[in-house]
Amino acid sequence: MKNPAQPNVKPAHHVPAPVLSQPVIGIDMGGTKINAGIVPAEVAGGAATVQSITSTATPRTVGEFIQNLVEMIEHLKAEHTVSLVGISTAGVVNTDLGTILGSTGNMPALSKLPNLKAELEERVNLPVHIENDANAAAYGEWRAGAAKGASNMFAITLGTGVGMGIVLNKTLYRGSHYFAAEGGHIAIAYTQERKCTCGRWDCWEAFASGTGLKKTAELNIEAASEPIQQEFLKKYCPDNDPVTTYTVIEAWKDRHPLGVKIMDDWHNHIAVGLGSIINVLDPDMIVVGGGLCQFVDFDLLFERTKKRSLSSNFKLLPAMLGNYAGIVGAAYLAVEAMSPYEG
Ligand SMILES: [Zn+2]
Repeated sequence: MKNPAQPNVKPAHHVPAPVLSQPVIGIDMGGTKINAGIVPAEVAGGAATVQSITSTATPRTVGEFIQNLVEMIEHLKAEHTVSLVGISTAGVVNTDLGTILGSTGNMPALSKLPNLKAELEERVNLPVHIENDANAAAYGEWRAGAAKGASNMFAITLGTGVGMGIVLNKTLYRGSHYFAAEGGHIAIAYTQERKCTCGRWDCWEAFASGTGLKKTAELNIEAASEPIQQEFLKKYCPDNDPVTTYTVIEAWKDRHPLGVKIMDDWHNHIAVGLGSIINVLDPDMIVVGGGLCQFVDFDLLFERTKKRSLSSNFKLLPAMLGNYAGIVGAAYLAVEAMSPYEG
C-alpha cells in the first residue's frame, strides 16, 4: 500500500478533542468471533489503544451468547474500574432502545434476542450501548484514528461486503430509522449486471467488495483471449483451483496483464461509489478500511475518485484502528450516549 500523497486539507472548523474520562469496555460482535477489551481513559494526543483483549467464538444459541458476553464483561470488570459497556454488532440497531432490528444473517442467535441491551444491563449491572458495527468503526476512526479532527467524514470497510458509517457536523449520522449509511447498497448501474446479497441489483457492494472483486476477475478471465486465459489459469489456478481474491492479488503483484486489468477495474468500481457519496456529503476526510484495504493503491484510488467528484478538497486515508475500530468506536459512543458530546 502506497503512502497517500494528498493535499493538506484543513477541517472547516476546529473540533475540540473529546475526553474519555474513564476506561470503557468495548465489545465487537462478528460472525465468527467476539472480541472485547478495555478502551483506556484518554491520554492527550495519544493514539487509541485497546487493552486486555479477550476473544471467544461467536455462539450459535441465545443462552450461550448472553452467557459469553456476561463472562467477558465480568472478567474485564474484575481487572479494571469501568462503568460503561459499548457494543458493536452486525445488523441495523435502534440505538435509543438498544434493540437489533434485523439483518444478522451470520449471527442467528441475535434474531431471537432483539433486546440485548436490557438483558445485558440486568445481568452485568452496567449501562450498555449498542451500535451497528460499520457506524462504530467509522466513529472510532473519527474520534481516535485516521480521521481525527475531521468536520465531516465517512468511512467504508471493504470486506465480504461494503460497510459504511458517516460523521456529519461532529455527530454520527444514523438517519430517521437507523438505516442511514448503507452506502454498500447504492446502485452503480441499472442494467441488472450483478445481484446483491440484499436481493437488489447492481449495488456498489456487488462490485467493490471481495465477492465483487472475485466476480470481476471471473468476467475478465472469461473475456480474455484464449492464450492469455490459459496462461493465467495455468499459473494462478493450477488443478482447476477456483479464482479467489488471493489469486488476483498474486497476479497483480506479478504485474500479469490480466491481474492488472482486474485490479484496475476494482479501483474504478470503488471510485464510482466514493465519488457519488462525496458529491452528496462534501466531506473533508474519507477513511478506507476492512480486510481488502491492504490491497488498495491509495494514490490510484484518489486520482480516480477525484475524477468523479465535484470537490477534490478531501483526504482519502487508510484506516488506522484495524480490527479494533468497532471496539474503540462503541466505547466512545457509550460515553456519548450517557452525556452527549457538545463539541
Ligand atoms: Zn444491495
